[in-house]
Amino acid sequence: MSGGEAPIPFLDVADEFEDLREAWFAAVHEIGRSGRFILGPNVEAFEREVAEYVGVRHAVGVASGTDALVLALRGLGVGAGDEVITTAFSFFATAEAITLVGADPVFVDVEPGTFNIDSAAAEAKVTARTRALLPVHLYGHPAPMAPLRALAERHGLALVEDCAQAFGARYGQARVGGLGAAGCFSFYPTKVLGGYGDGGMVTTDDAALAERVRRLRNHGASAAFVHESIGYNSRLDEIQAALLRLKLARIDAAIAGRRAAAAEYGRRLTAAGVSLPEEAPGCAHVYNLYTVRSREREALRARLAERGVPATVYYPVPLHRQPVYASSIRADTLSESERAADEVLSLPIFPTMHAGQVARVCEALAEPF
Ligand SMILES: *Cc1c(COP(=O)(O)O)cnc(C)c1O
Repeated sequence: MSGGEAPIPFLDVADEFEDLREAWFAAVHEIGRSGRFILGPNVEAFEREVAEYVGVRHAVGVASGTDALVLALRGLGVGAGDEVITTAFSFFATAEAITLVGADPVFVDVEPGTFNIDSAAAEAKVTARTRALLPVHLYGHPAPMAPLRALAERHGLALVEDCAQAFGARYGQARVGGLGAAGCFSFYPTKVLGGYGDGGMVTTDDAALAERVRRLRNHGASAAFVHESIGYNSRLDEIQAALLRLKLARIDAAIAGRRAAAAEYGRRLTAAGVSLPEEAPGCAHVYNLYTVRSREREALRARLAERGVPATVYYPVPLHRQPVYASSIRADTLSESERAADEVLSLPIFPTMHAGQVARVCEALAEPF
C-alpha cells in the first residue's frame, strides 16, 4: 500500500453521519421538547414506512433483531416441545432465539454457493414435532424461499425469515421480510439499515400476529396496566426511529453503493484465487458483508492485516459446534457449514466505498508474501 493514504475501514459511517446530522439533530431537538421518547410518532411513522418498503401490511418496532426473532416465534405460538429447523451457519442469535422461546433448534447444512440453508436437507429433518422453519438471508443474499415456502405448506410449518443482514434484498420482485409468516430485522449499527444503537422490527401481513407482537413487546399488555400474557420490555425508541427514518429515505442509494463496490470486487478478484460470493438468478444481494472463500483463508487474513486492511471471519464456529449446543443436539456432521466456517473471509464494504478503496484491498490480497 502506498504511503500517506488513509487506512481502509471495515465499515465507514462518517460520511453518512455528516449527511444525516442536521436533520437528525433537529428531530432529536423536537423529541426532547415533546417528552415522548419511546413508541411515539417517529416509531409509528417508521413502522408504516418499513411496511411499505418491504411490501407488508404490518411492521412492529422492537428493541433488537434478537428480540424480533423471539417475539415473532412466540407470537406464532412456538414454544416448549417444538422443533424449529434452521441453518447451521449464521450468527448465534438465530439459534439463541429458538432456545429462548423454549423450542429446540434443528440445524441443517448450507448450499456452498450462497451459504444459505439447503431446502432439501431441511425437508429431511422434518419430524412430528417440527413447528417452524427459520431461514437466514445470510450476508444479504436471500435464502431459497420458493422451495422453503413449498416445504412449509406441505408440512403445515410457520416460515419465519431472519432478515437481520438483508434489508432491501429481493427475491424475484418481492423484498425479504414479506415472504413468510414473519420477517425479523435488526437495526444494529453494522447492518444494511443500521441505527446508532440497538433496534429491530417484525414485519408481517397477519394482523393478528402483529397485534400479538405489539402486546409482547410491552409486557403482554392489551391496554394500560392490563396484562394478557407474560411479555417483554422490547420497545424501539424515538431517537433511533428518527435516525432510521432518515436512513430509510436514502436506503436505495446505500444499497446501490454496496452493490457497486461488490461489482468492483468481482471485476478485480477474478484472478485472485478466491471464490467470489454468488448471486442466484432472480435474487438481488445487498452485500451487508462481501464474503469470499479460500482454503488459504488464514494466510490471506494475515496478509491483509499486515497491510492494514481489516477482514473478518463471519462465522468461525457453526452453530451445531457451539459449546452450548454441541453436547445436546444430534451430533450430525454438517460438512458444508464446517467447510464454510474454515474458508470464509469478509472484506471491507460500505455504501460510500469507492473503486480506489476496493482496488487497494484487492492489491493487498494479490501481493506476494
Ligand atoms: C445481527 C443478527 C441478529 C441479531 O440482531 P441484534 O439486533 O444484534 O439482536 C440475528 N440474526 C442475524 C443473522 C444477525 O446477523
